[in-house]
Amino acid sequence: MGKRIVIALGGNALGSDLPEQMIAVKQTARAIADLIEDGHQVILSHGNGPQVGMIQKAMAELTRSEPEKYIPCPLSVCVAMSQGYIGYDLQNALREELLDRGIQKGVATVLTQVEVDPADPAFAHPTKPIGAFMTKEEADKLVAQRDYQVVEDAGRGWRRVVASPRPQSIVEIESIRDMVEAGLVVVACGGGGIPVFKTEGHHLKGAAAVIDKDFASCVLAQQLQADTLIILTAVEKAAINFGKPGQKWLDALTPEEAEEYMAQGHFAPGSMLPKVQAAAEFAKSGPGRSALITLLEKARDGVAGKTGTVIRQYSQHT
Ligand code: ADP
Ligand code: MG
Repeated sequence: MGKRIVIALGGNALGSDLPEQMIAVKQTARAIADLIEDGHQVILSHGNGPQVGMIQKAMAELTRSEPEKYIPCPLSVCVAMSQGYIGYDLQNALREELLDRGIQKGVATVLTQVEVDPADPAFAHPTKPIGAFMTKEEADKLVAQRDYQVVEDAGRGWRRVVASPRPQSIVEIESIRDMVEAGLVVVACGGGGIPVFKTEGHHLKGAAAVIDKDFASCVLAQQLQADTLIILTAVEKAAINFGKPGQKWLDALTPEEAEEYMAQGHFAPGSMLPKVQAAAEFAKSGPGRSALITLLEKARDGVAGKTGTVIRQYSQHT
């Protein structure tokens, strides 16, 4: 029986510059096409760290070159651009791979807005450095003119920091669901989604923030009532005592076991921690739901139960 699977692609699925991405998406498309060929309904989400960094830097250079003409590009617009560019490459690679296998299936990217709560405590403590390093003078100017928050980054200069609030809900969820139900492969929530919050009336305002793609993918999987959330990354499994004596790769665990390991500090914040958190949250959100963390090229084996770290309510220790 085919499952509804939300797949979150990590940095290694896309590479870190234009030529790398061209190559990486081909391998990614093969891994995704395997699951579609096996009869699963697939929804893709992805990270955007290097890509949004590149766009943000280019836009900042534009402002620097002609400050009278170009105001700084809002971060939400940079995220939207990154969704468009990454979606374009993924859409093309997957279309080609499916057609090569004789599978007639449409692939489409949805520019996705994700609502955040303006009262989220993350806004009071921005943690994510973005964009180029600046001098103290450049940083001061942006603080005064544009209300940016900046930090001195380990002696290397000043950088803008933005908040990483939790995603609340996906604005385009109905459109995404309709497309999935019509049989399309949908790319959504790229880069964690374009962060927005409600203002007056029906207006949504872009927030100067970035959303973690692992958390956004968890919300996407929940709102689509998916069976499985798969987080594809650069390691085959999550481990306890990672990179230390006593390192142990994890096969299957319950959300409660995952929470215990999280509390013991086994997963690095900003890399493995959000994945295990998102996986545990999804596994807890409904009966029969499971989450899998594994390598891109092991996706098919992972779904078959042969590898990866699986988090589900009643773990079967086999
Ligand atoms: P992605 O781009 O897929 O989100 P990240 O670099 O953010 O990738 O997170 C994956 C990385 O997390 C792995 O490559 C690994 O180096 C690191 N990591 C940190 N803690 C752990 C752990 N406990 N088990 C496995 N990997 C870990
Ligand atoms: Mg990451």
